[in-house]
Amino acid sequence: MLVENDAPLAPLTTLRLGGPARRLVTAHTDDEVIAAVREADAAGEPLLVLGGGSNLVIGDAGFPGTALRIATTGFALDGTVLELAAGEVWSEAVTRAVCEHGLAGIEFLAGIPGSAGATPVQNVGAYGQEVAQTVTEVVAYDRAAGEVVTLTNAECAFSYRHSRFKAEPDRYVVLRVRFALADRAGLSTPVKYAEVARHFGVEQGEPVPLVEAYEAVLALRAGKGMVLDPADHDTWSAGSFFTNPVLTAAQYESFRTRPGTENAPAYPAPEGCTKTSAAWLIDRAGFGKGYGDGPATLSTKHTLALTNRGAATAEDLLALAREIRDGVREAFGVELVNEPVMVGVKL
Ligand SMILES: Cc1cc2nc3c(=O)[nH]c(=O)nc-3n(C[C@H](O)[C@H](O)[C@H](O)COP(=O)(O)OP(=O)(O)OC[C@H]3O[C@@H](n4cnc5c(N)ncnc54)[C@H](O)[C@@H]3O)c2cc1C
Repeated sequence: MLVENDAPLAPLTTLRLGGPARRLVTAHTDDEVIAAVREADAAGEPLLVLGGGSNLVIGDAGFPGTALRIATTGFALDGTVLELAAGEVWSEAVTRAVCEHGLAGIEFLAGIPGSAGATPVQNVGAYGQEVAQTVTEVVAYDRAAGEVVTLTNAECAFSYRHSRFKAEPDRYVVLRVRFALADRAGLSTPVKYAEVARHFGVEQGEPVPLVEAYEAVLALRAGKGMVLDPADHDTWSAGSFFTNPVLTAAQYESFRTRPGTENAPAYPAPEGCTKTSAAWLIDRAGFGKGYGDGPATLSTKHTLALTNRGAATAEDLLALAREIRDGVREAFGVELVNEPVMVGVKL
Protein backbone atom coordinates (compact mmCIF):
# COMPACT_ATOMS: atom_id res chain seq x y z
CA MET A 1 0.00 0.00 0.00
CA LEU A 2 1.49 3.34 -1.04
CA VAL A 3 0.71 6.41 1.09
CA GLU A 4 1.51 9.97 -0.03
CA ASN A 5 0.69 13.25 1.67
CA ASP A 6 -0.54 16.44 -0.02
CA ALA A 7 -0.67 14.53 -3.29
CA PRO A 8 -1.83 16.19 -6.54
CA LEU A 9 -5.06 14.64 -7.85
CA ALA A 10 -5.30 16.50 -11.19
CA PRO A 11 -2.92 14.05 -12.97
CA LEU A 12 -5.13 11.17 -11.79
CA THR A 13 -8.18 12.58 -13.58
CA THR A 14 -8.95 12.81 -17.29
CA LEU A 15 -9.94 16.48 -16.92
CA ARG A 16 -6.54 17.09 -15.33
CA LEU A 17 -7.80 19.69 -12.91
CA GLY A 18 -8.50 20.10 -9.21
CA GLY A 19 -6.37 20.46 -6.08
CA PRO A 20 -4.43 17.92 -4.00
CA ALA A 21 -5.59 15.28 -1.53
CA ARG A 22 -4.46 15.60 2.07
CA ARG A 23 -3.52 11.93 1.80
CA LEU A 24 -3.45 9.57 -1.18
CA VAL A 25 -3.45 5.83 -0.61
CA THR A 26 -2.90 3.41 -3.51
CA ALA A 27 -4.23 -0.09 -2.79
CA HIS A 28 -3.20 -3.12 -4.87
CA THR A 29 -5.27 -5.88 -3.22
CA ASP A 30 -8.82 -6.16 -1.87
CA ASP A 31 -7.38 -6.49 1.64
CA GLU A 32 -5.45 -3.25 1.22
CA VAL A 33 -8.59 -1.51 -0.06
CA ILE A 34 -10.60 -2.72 2.91
CA ALA A 35 -7.86 -1.81 5.40
CA ALA A 36 -7.58 1.71 3.99
CA VAL A 37 -11.36 2.22 4.09
CA ARG A 38 -11.59 0.89 7.65
CA GLU A 39 -8.74 3.14 8.76
CA ALA A 40 -10.31 6.25 7.25
CA ASP A 41 -13.75 5.38 8.66
CA ALA A 42 -12.35 4.68 12.14
CA ALA A 43 -10.60 8.07 12.10
CA GLY A 44 -13.74 9.84 10.86
CA GLU A 45 -11.72 10.92 7.85
CA PRO A 46 -13.54 11.86 4.58
CA LEU A 47 -12.90 9.23 1.89
CA LEU A 48 -12.78 9.67 -1.87
CA VAL A 49 -12.64 6.45 -3.87
CA LEU A 50 -10.74 6.95 -7.10
CA GLY A 51 -10.70 4.65 -10.13
CA GLY A 52 -9.49 6.09 -13.42
CA GLY A 53 -10.64 9.62 -12.55
CA SER A 54 -12.65 9.83 -15.78
CA ASN A 55 -15.93 10.86 -14.20
CA LEU A 56 -14.74 13.31 -11.58
CA VAL A 57 -14.61 17.09 -11.23
CA ILE A 58 -12.36 17.81 -8.26
CA GLY A 59 -12.53 21.34 -6.86
CA ASP A 60 -9.47 23.59 -6.90
CA ALA A 61 -9.22 23.35 -3.11
CA GLY A 62 -8.62 19.61 -3.44
CA PHE A 63 -9.82 16.94 -1.04
CA PRO A 64 -9.40 17.35 2.74
CA GLY A 65 -9.21 13.63 3.51
CA THR A 66 -8.02 10.29 2.15
CA ALA A 67 -8.23 9.66 -1.58
CA LEU A 68 -8.11 5.90 -2.12
CA ARG A 69 -6.84 4.87 -5.52
CA ILE A 70 -8.02 1.38 -6.42
CA ALA A 71 -5.19 -0.38 -8.26
CA THR A 72 -6.27 -4.01 -7.88
CA THR A 73 -5.92 -6.39 -10.83
CA GLY A 74 -7.75 -9.54 -11.89
CA PHE A 75 -9.38 -10.78 -15.11
CA ALA A 76 -10.91 -14.23 -14.54
CA LEU A 77 -13.08 -16.08 -17.04
CA ASP A 78 -15.13 -19.11 -16.06
CA GLY A 79 -16.90 -20.20 -19.24
CA THR A 80 -18.75 -17.05 -20.23
CA VAL A 81 -18.76 -15.51 -16.75
CA LEU A 82 -16.18 -12.77 -16.40
CA GLU A 83 -15.01 -11.52 -13.00
CA LEU A 84 -13.04 -8.28 -12.97
CA ALA A 85 -11.20 -6.74 -10.06
CA ALA A 86 -12.32 -3.15 -9.47
CA GLY A 87 -8.96 -1.71 -10.52
CA GLU A 88 -8.87 -3.39 -13.93
CA VAL A 89 -8.82 -0.90 -16.79
CA TRP A 90 -12.28 -1.26 -18.32
CA SER A 91 -11.37 -0.65 -21.95
CA GLU A 92 -8.56 -3.24 -21.78
CA ALA A 93 -10.89 -5.80 -20.20
CA VAL A 94 -13.42 -5.23 -23.01
CA THR A 95 -10.70 -5.74 -25.62
CA ARG A 96 -9.64 -9.03 -24.02
CA ALA A 97 -13.18 -10.35 -23.56
CA VAL A 98 -14.28 -9.44 -27.08
CA CYS A 99 -11.19 -9.79 -29.25
CA GLU A 100 -9.33 -12.59 -27.46
CA HIS A 101 -12.22 -14.63 -26.11
CA GLY A 102 -14.96 -13.82 -28.66
CA LEU A 103 -17.52 -12.97 -25.99
CA ALA A 104 -20.46 -10.64 -26.57
CA GLY A 105 -22.33 -8.42 -24.11
CA ILE A 106 -19.93 -5.51 -23.60
CA GLU A 107 -18.66 -4.96 -27.17
CA PHE A 108 -20.52 -1.63 -27.56
CA LEU A 109 -18.87 -0.38 -24.34
CA ALA A 110 -15.40 -0.43 -25.95
CA GLY A 111 -13.18 2.60 -25.41
CA ILE A 112 -14.90 3.90 -22.28
CA PRO A 113 -12.14 5.08 -19.94
CA GLY A 114 -11.87 4.26 -16.26
CA SER A 115 -11.91 1.21 -14.05
CA ALA A 116 -14.11 -1.88 -14.03
CA GLY A 117 -15.15 -1.13 -10.44
CA ALA A 118 -16.72 2.18 -11.45
CA THR A 119 -18.86 0.69 -14.22
CA PRO A 120 -21.76 -0.32 -11.94
CA VAL A 121 -21.61 3.03 -10.12
CA GLN A 122 -23.24 5.02 -12.91
CA ASN A 123 -24.37 1.97 -14.91
CA VAL A 124 -21.95 2.81 -17.68
CA GLY A 125 -23.56 2.75 -21.08
CA ALA A 126 -23.06 3.66 -24.71
CA TYR A 127 -24.40 2.77 -28.17
CA GLY A 128 -27.46 0.97 -26.82
CA GLN A 129 -25.65 -1.17 -24.24
CA GLU A 130 -25.19 -0.67 -20.50
CA VAL A 131 -23.52 -2.81 -17.85
CA ALA A 132 -26.89 -3.42 -16.15
CA GLN A 133 -27.59 -5.85 -19.01
CA THR A 134 -24.66 -8.15 -18.12
CA VAL A 135 -23.69 -7.54 -14.47
CA THR A 136 -24.79 -10.50 -12.38
CA GLU A 137 -23.11 -9.64 -9.08
CA VAL A 138 -21.09 -6.88 -7.48
CA VAL A 139 -18.81 -7.72 -4.58
CA ALA A 140 -18.35 -4.64 -2.40
CA TYR A 141 -17.16 -3.55 1.01
CA ASP A 142 -20.21 -2.21 2.83
CA ARG A 143 -18.97 0.62 5.06
CA ALA A 144 -22.24 0.73 7.01
CA ALA A 145 -22.09 -2.99 7.89
CA GLY A 146 -18.28 -3.15 8.05
CA GLU A 147 -18.22 -6.31 5.90
CA VAL A 148 -17.89 -7.58 2.36
CA VAL A 149 -21.25 -8.13 0.67
CA THR A 150 -22.37 -9.55 -2.68
CA LEU A 151 -25.17 -7.64 -4.40
CA THR A 152 -27.27 -9.24 -7.13
CA ASN A 153 -28.14 -7.32 -10.27
CA ALA A 154 -31.58 -6.47 -8.81
CA GLU A 155 -29.99 -5.24 -5.58
CA CYS A 156 -27.79 -2.85 -7.57
CA ALA A 157 -30.98 -0.94 -8.54
CA PHE A 158 -29.63 0.04 -11.93
CA SER A 159 -31.32 2.73 -14.00
CA TYR A 160 -30.14 5.26 -16.59
CA ARG A 161 -26.65 6.38 -15.43
CA HIS A 162 -27.64 5.51 -11.89
CA SER A 163 -27.46 2.73 -9.32
CA ARG A 164 -27.60 1.97 -5.64
CA PHE A 165 -23.88 2.83 -5.48
CA LYS A 166 -24.56 6.33 -6.77
CA ALA A 167 -27.65 6.70 -4.57
CA GLU A 168 -25.63 5.83 -1.45
CA PRO A 169 -22.24 7.33 -2.37
CA ASP A 170 -20.58 6.84 0.99
CA ARG A 171 -21.64 3.26 1.56
CA TYR A 172 -20.11 0.79 -0.90
CA VAL A 173 -16.59 0.33 -2.20
CA VAL A 174 -16.75 -1.99 -5.19
CA LEU A 175 -14.13 -4.74 -5.08
CA ARG A 176 -15.17 -7.08 -7.93
CA VAL A 177 -17.78 -7.13 -10.69
CA ARG A 178 -19.15 -10.29 -12.35
CA PHE A 179 -20.61 -10.23 -15.86
CA ALA A 180 -22.57 -12.91 -17.72
CA LEU A 181 -21.27 -12.63 -21.28
CA ALA A 182 -22.37 -14.75 -24.24
CA ASP A 183 -20.71 -16.79 -26.94
CA ARG A 184 -22.71 -15.86 -30.05
CA ALA A 185 -20.43 -17.65 -32.50
CA GLY A 186 -18.64 -14.49 -33.62
CA LEU A 187 -21.71 -12.28 -33.67
CA SER A 188 -22.53 -9.28 -31.49
CA THR A 189 -25.47 -8.65 -29.22
CA PRO A 190 -28.35 -7.37 -31.41
CA VAL A 191 -27.66 -3.77 -32.44
CA LYS A 192 -29.93 -1.30 -30.66
CA TYR A 193 -28.41 2.03 -31.60
CA ALA A 194 -29.54 3.65 -34.86
CA GLU A 195 -26.10 5.12 -35.69
CA VAL A 196 -24.45 1.68 -35.38
CA ALA A 197 -27.21 0.01 -37.41
CA ARG A 198 -26.72 2.64 -40.15
CA HIS A 199 -22.96 2.11 -40.05
CA PHE A 200 -23.45 -1.60 -40.79
CA GLY A 201 -26.44 -1.18 -43.08
CA VAL A 202 -28.58 -3.49 -40.89
CA GLU A 203 -31.90 -3.07 -39.14
CA GLN A 204 -31.93 -2.34 -35.40
CA GLY A 205 -32.27 -5.67 -33.61
CA GLU A 206 -29.92 -7.57 -35.92
CA PRO A 207 -26.45 -8.73 -34.80
CA VAL A 208 -23.26 -7.85 -36.67
CA PRO A 209 -19.78 -9.46 -36.61
CA LEU A 210 -18.53 -9.15 -33.02
CA VAL A 211 -15.05 -7.73 -33.52
CA GLU A 212 -16.31 -5.40 -36.26
CA ALA A 213 -18.90 -4.06 -33.79
CA TYR A 214 -16.11 -3.36 -31.29
CA GLU A 215 -13.97 -1.67 -33.96
CA ALA A 216 -16.87 0.38 -35.29
CA VAL A 217 -17.67 1.70 -31.82
CA LEU A 218 -14.05 2.71 -31.28
CA ALA A 219 -14.02 4.55 -34.61
CA LEU A 220 -17.35 6.30 -33.90
CA ARG A 221 -16.15 7.28 -30.42
CA ALA A 222 -12.80 8.59 -31.70
CA GLY A 223 -14.63 10.82 -34.19
CA LYS A 224 -16.42 12.42 -31.23
CA GLY A 225 -13.31 12.84 -29.08
CA MET A 226 -14.60 10.12 -26.76
CA VAL A 227 -11.47 7.95 -26.74
CA LEU A 228 -8.67 9.17 -24.48
CA ASP A 229 -5.70 10.65 -26.32
CA PRO A 230 -3.24 12.64 -24.16
CA ALA A 231 -2.21 14.70 -27.20
CA ASP A 232 -5.80 15.72 -28.00
CA HIS A 233 -7.36 18.36 -25.73
CA ASP A 234 -10.79 17.36 -27.01
CA THR A 235 -10.40 14.24 -24.85
CA TRP A 236 -9.37 16.14 -21.70
CA SER A 237 -12.90 15.77 -20.46
CA ALA A 238 -15.12 13.65 -18.25
CA GLY A 239 -16.98 12.33 -21.29
CA SER A 240 -20.55 13.56 -21.42
CA PHE A 241 -20.85 16.38 -18.90
CA PHE A 242 -24.66 16.29 -18.76
CA THR A 243 -27.04 13.34 -18.74
CA ASN A 244 -29.83 13.22 -21.30
CA PRO A 245 -32.87 14.81 -19.64
CA VAL A 246 -35.74 12.47 -18.84
CA LEU A 247 -38.95 14.52 -18.92
CA THR A 248 -42.29 13.63 -17.34
CA ALA A 249 -45.32 13.76 -19.65
CA ALA A 250 -46.19 17.27 -18.38
CA GLN A 251 -42.61 18.52 -18.72
CA TYR A 252 -42.39 17.10 -22.24
CA GLU A 253 -45.64 18.77 -23.25
CA SER A 254 -44.39 22.11 -21.96
CA PHE A 255 -41.02 21.58 -23.70
CA ARG A 256 -42.76 20.96 -27.02
CA THR A 257 -44.51 24.35 -26.82
CA ARG A 258 -41.09 26.05 -27.15
CA PRO A 259 -40.20 27.21 -30.66
CA GLY A 260 -37.76 24.96 -32.51
CA THR A 261 -38.51 21.78 -30.60
CA GLU A 262 -40.49 20.06 -33.41
CA ASN A 263 -37.51 17.95 -34.41
CA ALA A 264 -36.03 17.43 -30.95
CA PRO A 265 -34.90 13.83 -30.39
CA ALA A 266 -37.40 11.93 -28.24
CA TYR A 267 -37.08 8.39 -26.93
CA PRO A 268 -39.53 6.51 -24.70
CA ALA A 269 -38.31 6.20 -21.09
CA PRO A 270 -39.78 4.27 -18.14
CA GLU A 271 -42.96 5.45 -16.39
CA GLY A 272 -44.37 7.33 -19.36
CA CYS A 273 -41.39 9.69 -19.51
CA THR A 274 -39.53 10.88 -22.59
CA LYS A 275 -35.77 11.11 -22.90
CA THR A 276 -34.38 13.87 -25.07
CA SER A 277 -30.82 14.67 -26.09
CA ALA A 278 -28.64 16.95 -23.98
CA ALA A 279 -26.25 17.41 -26.92
CA TRP A 280 -29.14 18.61 -29.13
CA LEU A 281 -30.39 21.04 -26.46
CA ILE A 282 -26.91 22.48 -25.90
CA ASP A 283 -26.31 22.96 -29.61
CA ARG A 284 -29.74 24.53 -30.24
CA ALA A 285 -29.36 26.84 -27.24
CA GLY A 286 -26.40 28.41 -29.04
CA PHE A 287 -23.47 26.44 -27.66
CA GLY A 288 -21.99 24.77 -30.72
CA LYS A 289 -18.95 22.51 -30.92
CA GLY A 290 -15.83 24.32 -29.69
CA TYR A 291 -17.89 26.98 -27.87
CA GLY A 292 -15.91 29.17 -25.48
CA ASP A 293 -12.71 31.16 -25.72
CA GLY A 294 -11.24 30.56 -22.28
CA PRO A 295 -9.10 27.75 -20.89
CA ALA A 296 -12.19 25.51 -20.74
CA THR A 297 -14.33 25.08 -23.87
CA LEU A 298 -16.72 22.63 -25.45
CA SER A 299 -14.98 19.89 -27.39
CA THR A 300 -14.60 20.72 -31.07
CA LYS A 301 -16.02 17.26 -31.79
CA HIS A 302 -18.96 16.95 -29.38
CA THR A 303 -21.15 19.53 -27.62
CA LEU A 304 -21.59 17.28 -24.58
CA ALA A 305 -17.92 17.21 -23.61
CA LEU A 306 -16.56 20.12 -21.58
CA THR A 307 -12.80 20.16 -21.99
CA ASN A 308 -9.69 21.54 -20.36
CA ARG A 309 -7.57 23.08 -23.11
CA GLY A 310 -4.47 22.71 -20.93
CA ALA A 311 -4.52 25.35 -18.20
CA ALA A 312 -8.11 25.34 -16.94
CA THR A 313 -9.04 25.32 -13.27
CA ALA A 314 -12.10 23.55 -11.91
CA GLU A 315 -13.74 26.99 -11.55
CA ASP A 316 -13.11 27.74 -15.26
CA LEU A 317 -14.80 24.48 -16.20
CA LEU A 318 -17.70 25.01 -13.82
CA ALA A 319 -18.26 28.57 -15.08
CA LEU A 320 -18.68 27.15 -18.60
CA ALA A 321 -20.94 24.36 -17.31
CA ARG A 322 -23.15 26.89 -15.49
CA GLU A 323 -23.38 29.13 -18.56
CA ILE A 324 -24.55 26.16 -20.64
CA ARG A 325 -26.96 24.85 -18.02
CA ASP A 326 -28.51 28.34 -17.63
CA GLY A 327 -28.67 28.91 -21.41
CA VAL A 328 -30.49 25.61 -21.96
CA ARG A 329 -32.91 26.37 -19.13
CA GLU A 330 -33.68 29.77 -20.65
CA ALA A 331 -34.13 28.43 -24.18
CA PHE A 332 -36.04 25.24 -23.42
CA GLY A 333 -37.10 25.24 -19.77
CA VAL A 334 -35.09 22.04 -19.22
CA GLU A 335 -32.69 21.66 -16.29
CA LEU A 336 -29.50 19.86 -17.30
CA VAL A 337 -27.95 17.65 -14.63
CA ASN A 338 -24.24 16.91 -14.46
CA GLU A 339 -23.10 13.33 -15.06
CA PRO A 340 -19.61 13.51 -13.46
CA VAL A 341 -19.28 13.32 -9.70
CA MET A 342 -18.41 16.68 -8.10
CA VAL A 343 -15.85 16.67 -5.31
CA GLY A 344 -15.95 19.73 -3.06
CA VAL A 345 -17.78 21.78 -5.71
CA LYS A 346 -21.31 22.26 -6.99
CA LEU A 347 -22.64 23.12 -10.40
C1 LIG B 1 -13.45 10.52 -22.99
C2 LIG B 1 -14.50 9.93 -22.06
C3 LIG B 1 -15.56 9.19 -22.58
C4 LIG B 1 -16.53 8.63 -21.73
N1 LIG B 1 -17.55 7.92 -22.27
C5 LIG B 1 -18.50 7.36 -21.47
C6 LIG B 1 -19.59 6.60 -22.03
O1 LIG B 1 -19.68 6.40 -23.23
N2 LIG B 1 -20.50 6.09 -21.18
C7 LIG B 1 -20.42 6.25 -19.83
O2 LIG B 1 -21.28 5.74 -19.09
N3 LIG B 1 -19.40 6.97 -19.27
C8 LIG B 1 -18.45 7.53 -20.06
N4 LIG B 1 -17.44 8.27 -19.52
C9 LIG B 1 -17.41 8.50 -18.07
C10 LIG B 1 -16.49 7.53 -17.32
O3 LIG B 1 -15.51 6.98 -18.15
C11 LIG B 1 -17.24 6.39 -16.65
O4 LIG B 1 -18.20 6.90 -15.77
C12 LIG B 1 -16.30 5.46 -15.88
O5 LIG B 1 -17.00 4.32 -15.44
C13 LIG B 1 -15.66 6.13 -14.67
O6 LIG B 1 -14.68 5.23 -14.19
P1 LIG B 1 -13.48 5.73 -13.30
O7 LIG B 1 -12.77 4.51 -12.81
O8 LIG B 1 -12.65 6.69 -14.07
O9 LIG B 1 -14.23 6.44 -12.11
P2 LIG B 1 -13.79 7.74 -11.27
O10 LIG B 1 -13.90 8.93 -12.17
O11 LIG B 1 -12.47 7.47 -10.67
O12 LIG B 1 -14.91 7.76 -10.20
C14 LIG B 1 -16.25 8.05 -10.56
C15 LIG B 1 -17.16 7.79 -9.36
O13 LIG B 1 -17.17 6.40 -9.08
C16 LIG B 1 -16.69 6.16 -7.76
N5 LIG B 1 -15.88 4.95 -7.80
C17 LIG B 1 -14.84 4.67 -8.60
N6 LIG B 1 -14.39 3.43 -8.35
C18 LIG B 1 -15.15 2.92 -7.36
C19 LIG B 1 -15.18 1.71 -6.64
N7 LIG B 1 -14.32 0.73 -6.89
N8 LIG B 1 -16.11 1.54 -5.65
C20 LIG B 1 -17.01 2.53 -5.37
N9 LIG B 1 -17.03 3.70 -6.02
C21 LIG B 1 -16.12 3.90 -7.00
C22 LIG B 1 -15.88 7.39 -7.39
O14 LIG B 1 -15.81 7.58 -5.99
C23 LIG B 1 -16.68 8.47 -8.08
O15 LIG B 1 -17.81 8.80 -7.30
C24 LIG B 1 -16.44 8.83 -20.34
C25 LIG B 1 -15.37 9.59 -19.83
C26 LIG B 1 -14.41 10.12 -20.67
C27 LIG B 1 -13.28 10.92 -20.11
